[in-house]
Amino acid sequence: RLVNNLEIKKDDDKDKCVENADVASAADTSLLLKIIRKGLVESNLDLEVQRKDPKSPLHSVKTFEALHLKPELLKGIYAMGFNAPSKIQETALPTLLADPPQNMIAQSQSGTGKTAAFVLAMLSRVDTKQDFPQVLCISPTYELAIQTGEVAARMAQFCPEIKLKFAVRGEEVTPNSKLKDHIIIGTPGKILDWGLKYRVFDLKKIRVFVLDEADVMIATQGHHDQCIRIHKQLSPKCQMLFFSATYDKEVMNFAQHIVPDPTIIRLMREQESLENIKQYYVKCMNEEDKYNAIQNIYAGITIGQAIIFCHTRKTAGWLAGKMSSDGHSVAVLSGDLTVEQRLAVLDRFRAGLEKVLITTNVLSRGIDIEQVTIVVNFDLPMDARGNADCETYLHRIGRTGRFGKNGIAINLVDGEKAMSICKYIENHFKKTIQLLDTGNSDEIE
Ligand code: ADP
Repeated sequence: RLVNNLEIKKDDDKDKCVENADVASAADTSLLLKIIRKGLVESNLDLEVQRKDPKSPLHSVKTFEALHLKPELLKGIYAMGFNAPSKIQETALPTLLADPPQNMIAQSQSGTGKTAAFVLAMLSRVDTKQDFPQVLCISPTYELAIQTGEVAARMAQFCPEIKLKFAVRGEEVTPNSKLKDHIIIGTPGKILDWGLKYRVFDLKKIRVFVLDEADVMIATQGHHDQCIRIHKQLSPKCQMLFFSATYDKEVMNFAQHIVPDPTIIRLMREQESLENIKQYYVKCMNEEDKYNAIQNIYAGITIGQAIIFCHTRKTAGWLAGKMSSDGHSVAVLSGDLTVEQRLAVLDRFRAGLEKVLITTNVLSRGIDIEQVTIVVNFDLPMDARGNADCETYLHRIGRTGRFGKNGIAINLVDGEKAMSICKYIENHFKKTIQLLDTGNSDEIE
């Protein structure tokens, strides 16, 4: 019995650890990335394609004309400033638009042109002579659904007869009335309500089903099951399209539920590396001492802009207070801010208005701030169980080829636990993390 109690206590501690760590929701991160993005993320990496029948020829196009779209749609694409298909679009579009329709799973990092590709497929498959919903697109959140709808509206700007309806919070329908819109974009709960409970459209008549941001969908409580319930109602002839920025086992299991006989297209992500990064660690006694270490680093070298990562919001707030009162201009980015507030903080930091950005894990992935030369891990990254989180370490410190400049990473290590995480990370990447004596900053080159 005693043993049982002890185990329960341990589990409680784990929960606390999860609760305290400030991690942004997958949906917020995805939205932030979308809004921040100014254009296409280019990639030189190869596309990987798996087909039902590997012998059938694989079409790819270099121009939008080659797709034989309706002239109004082509005009819309050019009006959006697209000149030629992106890497993933070259191969995805012919399959998405093929007759008979083919199912597809496509995976590539945010910004590579997935949304534009499936929106084009959605719009081209609409038959405006029929006034009932024919295309259904599910997004994980209100905001993401609106983003996709805005892309659709812009692309269809010369096709005024195509009607689009959002099935999201705030939108209401009269039960048992019949929707006349051609395209529905919405969140899983609302779509279930409208399709099954209120029966304002017939899921059996949907010809194109798009599941967007499947990885974010899985990360959101309840969405996975709702999507499967919606999917069960669809006709076997419906074209199933599945998009995701990541491609792990859970996502693929989900995909297998949704998409029979798919063509699978993957575009590898540019690998981040620690190649040109000098990594150090500083031995500290406690938080106060970690703060002294930062002071010493600042006293010793001229720093351009720096990002400091903390594990919790509380630490981030505390550190920001201390640094500000010592005269540093600091910005704080944490999970309690809205996406708009985060954008504002990032814009100011990018413009150089603050020299230091203190943040929690809300920023660990996908946001390249080129001018940052120093990254400080005030707390080493660890997962919910308190183990070293090497992936997050790489996202914080690493650079992709495009920004392959030199950088410095400093890990503040207080006590044995932090030291063991530091050693683990060092072994994992097989790159030395050197001891730094902050009393003697000449050591940093
Ligand atoms: P993803 O869905 O993979 O995140 P998006 O479709 O949202 O990618 O595209 C990312 C950005 O690139 C958007 O700003 C979009 O307008 C733009 N974009 C998409 N396709 C093209 C293209 N063929 N040419 C130029 N810009 C494009």
